[in-house]
Amino acid sequence: MTMHIPFDNSYARLPEAFFSRQAPMPVAKPSLIAFNEDLAKELGITGHPTSDDIAALAGNALPEGAEPIAQLYAGHQFGQFNPQLGDGRAVLLGEVVDTHGVRRDIQLKGSGQTPYSRRGDGRAWLGPVLREYVVSEAMHALGVPTTRALAATRTGQDVIRERPMPGAVLTRVAQSHIRVGTFQIFAARRDVQSLQTLFDYTVARHYPAAKDPGDLLQMVIDRQAALIPHWMSFGFIHGVMNTDNCTLSGETIDYGPCAFLDGFDAHGRYSSIDHHGRYAYSAQADIIVWNIAQLATSLVLLTPDTDAAIEQFTSQINAMPELIRNNWLTRFAAKIGIAAPKPEDEALVSDLLKLMHQDRADFTNTFRALTAGSAREEFSDQAGYDAWHMRWQTRLSNETAPTKVMTRANPAFIPRNHQIEEMIAAAVEGDDSLFHRLNKVLATPFDEQPAHSDLQSPPRPEEEVKATFC
Ligand code: AMP
Ligand code: MG
Ligand code: MG
Repeated sequence: MTMHIPFDNSYARLPEAFFSRQAPMPVAKPSLIAFNEDLAKELGITGHPTSDDIAALAGNALPEGAEPIAQLYAGHQFGQFNPQLGDGRAVLLGEVVDTHGVRRDIQLKGSGQTPYSRRGDGRAWLGPVLREYVVSEAMHALGVPTTRALAATRTGQDVIRERPMPGAVLTRVAQSHIRVGTFQIFAARRDVQSLQTLFDYTVARHYPAAKDPGDLLQMVIDRQAALIPHWMSFGFIHGVMNTDNCTLSGETIDYGPCAFLDGFDAHGRYSSIDHHGRYAYSAQADIIVWNIAQLATSLVLLTPDTDAAIEQFTSQINAMPELIRNNWLTRFAAKIGIAAPKPEDEALVSDLLKLMHQDRADFTNTFRALTAGSAREEFSDQAGYDAWHMRWQTRLSNETAPTKVMTRANPAFIPRNHQIEEMIAAAVEGDDSLFHRLNKVLATPFDEQPAHSDLQSPPRPEEEVKATFC
């Protein structure tokens, strides 16, 4: 049976200033890599993809009800304001209202040039498409708010990077693609009317309780102040926290040169384009505040009393680091079995992280081993660990169900960088088995899966990934 997508589009109804109408560009020979049946069901998509549907997922035809557009936005890239970005290699096909009543975007990424492609080819190669598929689905299974992957297709044609690479298209699902940069573009143009329209649309779609720009700002602050500590609790480094990669919905978006820490390094960074560590592991908690300050700056234009708004927004932004610290403590305390942390627990968590940092102890395995009682083996400074362990045990005597708390906070499996690289190398040779295996194992990351315990191993020195690329 042919797939049916129950489109119900709203962004395409907004004024023309918000986007360009742009159909996906056809490709040579579409073939399906993966279709996410569970997500499809949640989206109300019926039927299994036939060859016609696969062609549509690769951009060779339009599904009924799609109204493809490339969305416009601006953004600060590594602190530098770029007054116009936009979907340079993606088109929004439209939206569906899912089985929970939530409106979700369906977007093709890698679907050809748009008016916003600048000098880019509008395409994606297989590697980043599979990385985004695996990592975004893994993040979802870990419980982190994120865009999702509905499908991945090969295009049957090469794209030119350092060398020709097989092309691919990702079908991405998001609660919306509204970014801090979407607000910035209209603010930079002093187009208050469009900014107001965007504000009204965003409030209606994501935060119906927000009555004014200050409310919206606070709701986004709350979501983002929850999101980044959640990332950090799994050792995740986004890699490109530009304001155009920062959503109003609070979902993680844009899996480019992202990475998960193996050995813990508080200043860890992998992205080949992040020369100064602006988006390093620990820096993420600071840079999100900077990003939200850019949103606040845009929202000021919508307020009748500029001075009062600046004062109010400034105090909201100034309170954000404390919110982040509290959420961070809650996440990390759970990782050591403490359900409701007290301020003094911060030292206990920080001291463990210091030991882990010194020894570059494996982030995921060390926390997981705390439950099993085998964490000591992850350290070379075992005396240092023993001293911490005593303090920890004393503290845990006040907790009712520490093991239960820890098991839910410490996954056995994360998508490790070297496994992702190995998976991509195999897929380039036409072997998708590791891609499918990773998806399957990472769907239940908190479960012991003895048959897949090899995936819990940190990289051997020669397997270690030193840099990630987008
Ligand atoms: P990103 O770093 O993925 O957030 O992308 C930043 C901007 O560059 C966005 O406007 C993208 O649409 C655009 N872009 C990235 N890669 C390409 C490409 N291959 N062709 C056209 N535009 C691109
Ligand atoms: Mg982006
Ligand atoms: Mg990207």
